[in-house]
Amino acid sequence: MNILVINCGSSSLKYQLINMESKQALAVGLAERIGIDGALTQKVEGREKYVASPVMKNHDDAMKIVLEALIDKEHGVIKSMDEIGAVGHRVVHGGERYSNSVLIDDDVMKYLNECVKLAPLHNPPNIIGIKACKQFMPNTPMVAVFDTAFHQTMPEKAFLYGIPYELYQKDHIRRYGFHGTSHKYVSKIAAECMHKNIKDLKIITCHLGNGGSVSAIKNGKSVDTSMGFTPLEGIIMGTRSGNLDPAIVTYLIEELGYTAEEVNELLNKKSGILGLSGISSDFRDIRAAAAEGNHQAQLSLDVYYYSIKKYIGAYFAIMGGLDCLVFTAGIGENAYETREGICEGLECLGIKIDLVKDKVRGVLAEVSADDSKVKIFAIPTNEELMIAEETLEILSK
Ligand code: ADP
Repeated sequence: MNILVINCGSSSLKYQLINMESKQALAVGLAERIGIDGALTQKVEGREKYVASPVMKNHDDAMKIVLEALIDKEHGVIKSMDEIGAVGHRVVHGGERYSNSVLIDDDVMKYLNECVKLAPLHNPPNIIGIKACKQFMPNTPMVAVFDTAFHQTMPEKAFLYGIPYELYQKDHIRRYGFHGTSHKYVSKIAAECMHKNIKDLKIITCHLGNGGSVSAIKNGKSVDTSMGFTPLEGIIMGTRSGNLDPAIVTYLIEELGYTAEEVNELLNKKSGILGLSGISSDFRDIRAAAAEGNHQAQLSLDVYYYSIKKYIGAYFAIMGGLDCLVFTAGIGENAYETREGICEGLECLGIKIDLVKDKVRGVLAEVSADDSKVKIFAIPTNEELMIAEETLEILSK
């Protein structure tokens, strides 16, 4: 069976058509600049990249163009839409109702709309993507796979904030956690690499991309994660501040005259590595600047490593030990310097990286020293494949 995986953003639509027998992507594409003008790129193994500029007034147009590209005689990979057995949609927020992926029906759509207030930037385009897809494939089963679902196993003591309980009860303010699909995928691969049952393992997964989060996974279940009510909490990130004293927000507003909107912009888009370095949010730029002796660039790296180290220590403590540490996503997979910077000094926890084995980028590798008590892995994440597998699993139930 082929499963179409859709990840719909406000002006873009990422897609992959995955063959579930071979687990290979037949086509990987991106429709972008939706509502502006429109651009499509589609990659197929062994062929030249297909690039087009069709007009995309809205997501309905984009969806139609994506489906046409998939069945196109010259550039496509299937003969007709009948060869798409199901669609898996990435949905950012599943609230408290969904601890698993779910077959989409009217009731699910109603609940996703209720979750919009929890993820005002992300859920609306996800919903629009589902609606657009349904329009062209009304009889194809569709599954929603949530970023939050994997973390729904967190105990109350991990997901509650120290604020009045009614704000949780009435207004659903709590830790939800994100990147769940990625944390679940890489922890599963790590257990396979260790030839162990995930139910017997204590794993810390570090998803380090532009956005980043760290998760504690005990016996296959997420027991804590660094992102919270929104993806702003936790480690410092490319442009996001991560943790800070919440009183800074009121100080910015009351003493420095920021509006709420400006604070939002500051903490989400102008902070983190970009804000500290004053150079860039991209790790390659920061490393290059640090190598040339730029103090602020080096400082931003030091703060980054430090903020992740603290989570590793905390999650070691709450799980009562650690069997495996995983690095994934753009930085975690590629920037071995970052893996080394984070692991440095953690020998006391049994975490010892092998500086020779670690010199790899973008491949699955065990990078721990032979005498490291904790196994350390770099594992390329594959959220699309995970979404496709979840979709298949829901259909087979
Ligand atoms: P997103 O959260 O947008 O999906 P990614 O997972 O693509 O982010 O990660 C982007 C980050 O990965 C950037 O900071 C980039 O510098 C870093 N990165 C990608 N490739 C490399 C590389 N070869 N070496 C170092 N850093 C890299």
